[in-house]
Amino acid sequence: MDPAHRAESAAVATHLPTAYLREIAARGATPPARRRTRLVATIGPASDSVEVVAAMAEAGMDVARIPLAHGSVDEAIERMRRVRKAAPHVGVLADLPGPKIRTTAFPEGGTLLAAGSEVLLLPGSAQPTSGAERIGIALDEVALGLEEGDHVAVGDGGVSLRVLERRGEGALARVLSGGRVQGRPGITVPTSRVVLRTPTADDLERLDALVGEGVDMVAVSFVRSASDMLAVRAATGNLHTMLCAKIETPEAIADLDEILTVSDSVMVARGDLGVRVPLEDVPHHQKHIIRAGVRFGRPVITATQMLESMVSSPVPTRAEVTDVANAVLDGTSAVMLSGETAVGVDPVNVVATMARIVMRTERDFDYLRWGAGLGLQEVSGPPSSALGITAAITGAAWRAALEQNAAAIVACTRSGRTARVISRFRPAMPIVAATPSIETARQLSVSWGVEALIVRESTSTDDIVWHAVQATVEAGYAKAGDVVVVLAGSPTEPDPVTDTIRIVRIS
Ligand code: PEP
Repeated sequence: MDPAHRAESAAVATHLPTAYLREIAARGATPPARRRTRLVATIGPASDSVEVVAAMAEAGMDVARIPLAHGSVDEAIERMRRVRKAAPHVGVLADLPGPKIRTTAFPEGGTLLAAGSEVLLLPGSAQPTSGAERIGIALDEVALGLEEGDHVAVGDGGVSLRVLERRGEGALARVLSGGRVQGRPGITVPTSRVVLRTPTADDLERLDALVGEGVDMVAVSFVRSASDMLAVRAATGNLHTMLCAKIETPEAIADLDEILTVSDSVMVARGDLGVRVPLEDVPHHQKHIIRAGVRFGRPVITATQMLESMVSSPVPTRAEVTDVANAVLDGTSAVMLSGETAVGVDPVNVVATMARIVMRTERDFDYLRWGAGLGLQEVSGPPSSALGITAAITGAAWRAALEQNAAAIVACTRSGRTARVISRFRPAMPIVAATPSIETARQLSVSWGVEALIVRESTSTDDIVWHAVQATVEAGYAKAGDVVVVLAGSPTEPDPVTDTIRIVRIS
């Protein structure tokens, strides 16, 4: 998109004077040379070696996701150590399973559930294996609570059943849409039948071990309300482990603003969401969750089936390439690979493919329109109050950076918050996060467009700015004659807040 066109579209979005926008667009907003949208890749049997993880990081993996739904906590810790060894700068996201309900095991090779057939749904303790006539549900209470008329989905939702009547300890159901099921697929029942809540006792046990191991981020499954996230936060016993709320239930969509207020990031968990809401609603929820998350200054990860065919194929489908590109254009902070890198034939090739699609899309991302539209929306929107002074000061920094055609916006940050909040404007120039904390640097690996640099501790605002600018120049983000816009706070405050903008011309 040429700069003049970009200026015009921004004017439509904001009602700011066209001449002003045309001028700043002509001065800058050049596409970045480095990828801004982050890449999360799931580690599994296909990526369980230091060599493969290192190659995935080289190909573009910013965050390694370690699912805890399968395997022991010791195996998860082993995986985490392997990632640290292979790629110390890569963030680690542990994904808690939550109250996922599964069937008991179907025989090897799977079982065909034929449309129109009848099947008994029974407590797993009474039905330790599943087949075409009887399916065990691993959580007994669920089978005991099913009622006539309940809809039950098996696996990713392709197979669905309707309960006809209670029968003994379980329920008799008819298969509405059939298909082959194998292994121990997840089973989705009406939310009111699920007695377990997030976090489960098992989640808490795993959380404890992973926080003890220094995990950077924890994803929480099947969140229904802000109080679920608060319970996980309390269980971490700290304020710095980043918590990511997986949005995969209609209840979470209804409570999104409250969940965003108490979470550090969110995931559009399209797999489970797609069995709980009509499939055709998923793209619209995706756009809504992304926009809400970004307004709150929270990184948003778009997940599941992004390059699914690459589990077994060296090239993705056209539809998958378009899906990844559209998520980037929607404004997502990160895109995620699941089975593609956990069990796929060539995890490194998938990461490289996704990185290429993202880079190409970012050439056409409308940076100016995004930032300008956000600024206007926010004046009276709810996030302003949630983000406090940081909302106002980052808004001013974004505008100053555009007006001065800055080479970079430099956020001096201990917790990472200032960098996350300025990132919501999606500026065309790099966002440099200067931080004394390696943990914060790793957590910023999921934030759109943020390049973290480790700087020494400082005791005054002047020193903080000086070291941050020096590091920015040394890392090649700015050179003599360039202007950089620096955000900083006072380290001597008991509760430091970013309250200073310095506009620095590098001499
Ligand atoms: C999802 O449902 O899209 C998701 C990411 O969760 P999981 O893969 O853990 O089921």
